[in-house]
Amino acid sequence: MQIISNIEQMQQTILSLRAKGTTIGFVPTMGYLHEGHLTLLQQARKENDIVVLSVFVNPLQFGPNEDFDRYPRNIERDEELARTASVDYLFYPSVEEMYPTPLTTKVTVTARTEVLCGEKRPGHFDGVATVLLKLFNITMPHRAYFGMKDAQQVAVVQGLISDYNIPVTLIPVETVREEDGLAKSSRNVYLSESERKEAPHLYQSLQLAKQAVEEGERDPQAVKAIVTNYIITHTSGEIDYTEVYAYPQLTELERIKGTIIVAVAVKFAKARLIDNITFTI
Ligand code: AMP
Repeated sequence: MQIISNIEQMQQTILSLRAKGTTIGFVPTMGYLHEGHLTLLQQARKENDIVVLSVFVNPLQFGPNEDFDRYPRNIERDEELARTASVDYLFYPSVEEMYPTPLTTKVTVTARTEVLCGEKRPGHFDGVATVLLKLFNITMPHRAYFGMKDAQQVAVVQGLISDYNIPVTLIPVETVREEDGLAKSSRNVYLSESERKEAPHLYQSLQLAKQAVEEGERDPQAVKAIVTNYIITHTSGEIDYTEVYAYPQLTELERIKGTIIVAVAVKFAKARLIDNITFTI
């Protein structure tokens, strides 16, 4: 595995690989790798000749009161895991390398962000879209892998790719969970012991919602109430949102129909956890 921190070197490497007809699979991450990331890498490994992993904690996507400074980082561990996952190139740029001077243009996401995390984290998806536009131009992948744990991100990035005719195929990957159902996340390390025991209830609340829909419930408000009540009863966390929308449009539904997302965000003392399920009815 080669570790590259320089943008031009990464681009030259990719250009010479592409000149030989090599296919490139790309997995963008903020590091502190876990099995969720490794599943994305495994799928990229199967479907491409070369796998590029990026590790970059992107300051642009964190709000002023969010956890940019204390976001968990451990590049030595990430390197080791990346080697085990047979990554070919680890792209690990510094903030100065990615943003040497203030940007002169701005990427603003204009749809699919007025709800869920977009509403609760103003500017977050603009930061995500900005860094991904850069990363796509740096790693020039044929396929890019994103986890459905961040389903709104998948919807936003698909919009970015389509809007700007970026020659990459987005591959969504199912959420990877702990045995008890908790979605794997770098932020799970912030949970206290008792919060960790409560956290799987997020997924359980989503499963209850799905079950209710499967049994005939069609009112989004009733489905939201099931999720909210279950989380209030079973966790000490504070609900940031419980929502039911059409997916991937992320628009309101009067009655449940087609492909929908049921999504939750819950704030614990030091961690804000998100989870969702999408399904078609
Ligand atoms: P992050 O490092 O948290 O920005 O995540 C990098 C990529 O890994 C994103 O596409 C995430 O959606 C994906 N990811 C994170 N956690 C999981 C998970 N539990 N299952 C599947 N994909 C995940």
